[in-house]
Amino acid sequence: MLLAVLICCVGAFVVAEMFVQVRTTSGIQRFGWIFLTAIAAGATIWCTHFVAMLGYEVDVPVHLDPVLTIVSLIVAIVGMSIGLAVGLWGAGALYPLIGGALAGGAISAMHYTGMAAFRVDGLVEWRIPYVVASVLCSIAFSAAAFAALCSARLSGRRRLWLGAGLFATAIVTLHFVAMTALRIAPLSLSDKPLTSEGMRALGLATALVGLIVIAAGIAAALIDRHTRSDAMQRLRHMAMNDALTGLPNRSSFQAELQRQVDVARTAGTKLAVVAIDLDRFKEINDVHGHKAGDDVLVMLADRMRDQLQGEEVVARLGGDEFVALTRFQERGDLAKFAARLDAALKAPVSFGTMSARVGAGIGVAVFPDHAESVEALVNNADLAMYRAKHEGSFEPRFYDASLDEIVRERRELANDLRRAIEEDQLALHYQVQTSITTREVTGYEALLRWHHPLRGNIPPEVFIPVAEESGLILPLGEWVLRQACRDATTWPNQSKVSVNVSPLQLAHADLPGLFRQVLGETGLPARRLEIELTETAFVTDRVRALHILQQIKALGVGVALDDFGTGFSSLETLRVFPFDKIKLDRFFISGLADSPQAIAIVRAVLALGKSLAIPVLAEGIETDEQLEVLRREGCDEAQGFLLGRPAPMPSTIVVGAVARGAVPRDRPLGGIAPQST
Ligand code: C2E
Ligand code: MG
Ligand code: MG
Repeated sequence: MLLAVLICCVGAFVVAEMFVQVRTTSGIQRFGWIFLTAIAAGATIWCTHFVAMLGYEVDVPVHLDPVLTIVSLIVAIVGMSIGLAVGLWGAGALYPLIGGALAGGAISAMHYTGMAAFRVDGLVEWRIPYVVASVLCSIAFSAAAFAALCSARLSGRRRLWLGAGLFATAIVTLHFVAMTALRIAPLSLSDKPLTSEGMRALGLATALVGLIVIAAGIAAALIDRHTRSDAMQRLRHMAMNDALTGLPNRSSFQAELQRQVDVARTAGTKLAVVAIDLDRFKEINDVHGHKAGDDVLVMLADRMRDQLQGEEVVARLGGDEFVALTRFQERGDLAKFAARLDAALKAPVSFGTMSARVGAGIGVAVFPDHAESVEALVNNADLAMYRAKHEGSFEPRFYDASLDEIVRERRELANDLRRAIEEDQLALHYQVQTSITTREVTGYEALLRWHHPLRGNIPPEVFIPVAEESGLILPLGEWVLRQACRDATTWPNQSKVSVNVSPLQLAHADLPGLFRQVLGETGLPARRLEIELTETAFVTDRVRALHILQQIKALGVGVALDDFGTGFSSLETLRVFPFDKIKLDRFFISGLADSPQAIAIVRAVLALGKSLAIPVLAEGIETDEQLEVLRREGCDEAQGFLLGRPAPMPSTIVVGAVARGAVPRDRPLGGIAPQST
């Protein structure tokens, strides 16, 4: 009897376990699991019944009908299949109750079929109230068991134990109540009685087979759970880690940083975020290929990982950007950590047949000294790292609000500028250029204007360097060129339009191609376009710069040398390239009135222009006196507030006193009037 109860309990637990498992499956997998669970449940009910029957002693010969015995097992399995299928059908609370009731019915059906196979030589009487009670008990407990297993209110363990207990109760109560219903009056009728020893052997065999089935169920459940948790773990790893190096990725690093910040806050310790950006990675990638680049990343990642102690972390944020974190008490510990990472990064790496030292810019931000939030910590470490790279420093740099704030502002400005290009906050103003001798308009210089939605007008002296630093100068320059050409085509006169070109555009873009394209698009004749370049353009790669200028000139576009006299003013540049114009910087003009040296320089530059046959334009003419001096010295052209301020559309240009009356100084001017004297 005890063995029967044991089988029943173990079996019920396995069934409950499997039942919970089925709920996490779907499709064909769920179908298979329901079938397996039904087999385990059927075997449990059937074994419990037969082992218990071994304890049932009657003084008459007993024998078993083999067909009905097998049928009773099939009834149990099929009945349980139906009960489980219904119980697990949907999310509503009714499904488990109905399914459980059906399973209770299956338990009863199995029992009474089994009893039909139990042949005794005697008069068998079934007391109906007990029979009814037994069936109701099994239905009620089994329904309760299913409901418990599906209950959302119970925790995982509770659900399992309660479900298993109720299911075991359903089987046990049915059996004992049903056996109470049975009364046998001995009568020796059977000719082939089974000895009680034979019965016992059969019973043990049954129990054994049942246990094997139940054990198989346990094994299946365990294997399934294991493979599934394996798969889950692999998925988790993939989601949390960088595929190439296996280091944590950005999102898992952020979660870990948040956790460690919380720990540091409660423990009162400090925490450092270390931003790392490799130094020569792009070069390795470009020159030796992506495979070499990948090898280097993996190697360095492994090395840094080997340096970690305790709860220290290194993560890869993408590209050649890494970030590390450590908690510490003393600055010395932090310095040691940084030194460990630094050593890992500086040791030579080999890829293919090559070997190189990579190195990195390292920036450190400390919690709570430099920032308290995760975002600010990472950001500040980044800023310090940029400074380390900018200074070419091999030592880690700590965040310094006063130093890094400038960088932060420039980065913000660069972001705003990027948006400005997209959102049309930019405009071109035009400033007139005039012939001093004939007083005719010779052209208009396009000058870029940015109206920032919050900060108002930002001068080009501020945002052009930011654009150059961030690479935005390329799209910006292209926009200026296209807009200027487009505008010029709408002008009623045939004036030239002059566009400033940054040295970076010359170095990085296919400028001749762009000019050809824009001129074609807008239909502006090339002779009406001129570019203004400063001498800085020739500093880095003189030969290439000259080559590109040659191509641009070949299109028919004019080339002017801007801000002459301020930069690297080399006569060599003037000798090797046939400029169409020299623009004398306004610095010299402002000194004209009271500085004899300034007049001497202006005179010298004008003489130089004459001898090279290049016209000279004087910038920044603000007074009649300045204009008069230039006229006397034989300067060809002039540009300045006296002649016209930069304005949204080309301004009317009139030379002399009349002009000052005719040209309002700060008001944008519409339309173009013919030049007059
Ligand atoms: P720049 O090419 O030398 O332009 C002439 C600058 O002198 C303009 O300043 C103009 O407003 C100013 N100016 C003109 N007449 C006078 C005057 O009589 N007195 C004084 N004090 N200033 C005068 P702006 O517009 O602020 O531009 C400054 C610089 O920004 C330009 O110098 C140019 O180098 C650069 N820049 C402007 N627009 C662009 C552009 O579209 N692309 C590029 N790459 N650079 C640009
Ligand atoms: Mg200019
Ligand atoms: Mg200039």
